[in-house]
Amino acid sequence: MSSEHGAAERPPRSYLLLGSTGSIGTSTLEIQAAHPRRFRPVGLAAHASVEKLEAQVRRFRPLFAVLVDEAAARSLRRRLSDLSDVRVLGGTAGLLEMITAAPCDLVVHGISGAAGLSASVAALQRGLSLALANKESLVVAGEILVSLARERRAALLPVDSEHSAIFQCLGGEPQRRFRRLILTGSGGPFVDRPLHTFDAIRPEEALRHPNWTMGARITVGSATMMNKALEVIEAHHLFDAAPEHIHVVIHRQSIVHSMVEYEDGSVLAQLGPPDMKVPIHVAMCWPERAETEYVGFDPRLFAKLTFEERCSERFPAVDLGYRAVREGGVLGAALNAADEIAVQRFLAGEISFTDIQRVNERVFERAPRIVAPDLEELVEADRWARAEANQCLPSSIS
Ligand code: MG
Repeated sequence: MSSEHGAAERPPRSYLLLGSTGSIGTSTLEIQAAHPRRFRPVGLAAHASVEKLEAQVRRFRPLFAVLVDEAAARSLRRRLSDLSDVRVLGGTAGLLEMITAAPCDLVVHGISGAAGLSASVAALQRGLSLALANKESLVVAGEILVSLARERRAALLPVDSEHSAIFQCLGGEPQRRFRRLILTGSGGPFVDRPLHTFDAIRPEEALRHPNWTMGARITVGSATMMNKALEVIEAHHLFDAAPEHIHVVIHRQSIVHSMVEYEDGSVLAQLGPPDMKVPIHVAMCWPERAETEYVGFDPRLFAKLTFEERCSERFPAVDLGYRAVREGGVLGAALNAADEIAVQRFLAGEISFTDIQRVNERVFERAPRIVAPDLEELVEADRWARAEANQCLPSSIS
């Protein structure tokens, strides 16, 4: 009856955790702590959080510890000098070295932003299964990653909750017998706010998400729904879905994580309270399933589920996501980069909430149109879009 019995007999699954001190990383290590015989983290990587990573290394004893910030890596190396069996590496080179060398077959990728792309490429190139929470990898270079995964027979496993839901509803099989993929989005904190007050939205208001606890960029992206725009692009690549087969629906409760409407009219959904540990655990176990303590169906939580059409005037960002899919090229990369900068500038108090969309539109319109760009051209488009987004002065935007 208990799958823990069977799981205990096989060796734990070795994996690398990228972005271990972030939101996805800490959730993954909570899963690890609850199921120490099911999984083993052989490498932990973070950006610059020396103390947090040190504590994680002392607790979980990986073989590799990486900090992308070189100075932070040197500091970590000194602090861990008593642990001779842990290799401490620094820089992006150190991160890629770990992905290439560590004994494992799975990478859990929770690095935030386009900076996570090279790690995705390295993992797939080695043929490792990639549990991908870093949606930006797919937004920037979806075509390249999907064909690389196919070529190396590497599993590309979505961790984004909506895409995990669709992946599960599709049974993990690539197939096109669906009418629509129905992506749900909560609508964020401003779904009812009067539109004429959007200019006055303060950073702390945009950082308050009603249902999910996440990183700052994605939380603001939920308020603008740019996060959903990126998820439309992500779904297009993961499930080979044309834009007219991807539908965004406002679902305030974040209980139905997404749905697949098959061509015969059957609709399958994946449900549960919002908890990223569920999609992370699904990806870490796939194609199997294993017992957990997570809440499944609770009628008190599921009693009132609502669905509404999205209003383009309130959430214009989503339209840019659809346009990026239709026009292709470097537009996903440019849009993502512009939004990363625009959100930073909004949080720093330099531009207003509605300026985020103005910056993104402006960069989108000006971005070069390149057919079938290679990795280098995508990285260049990312760099260009950041510079462009930084140059948009508040006075010149509106
Ligand atoms: Mg999501």
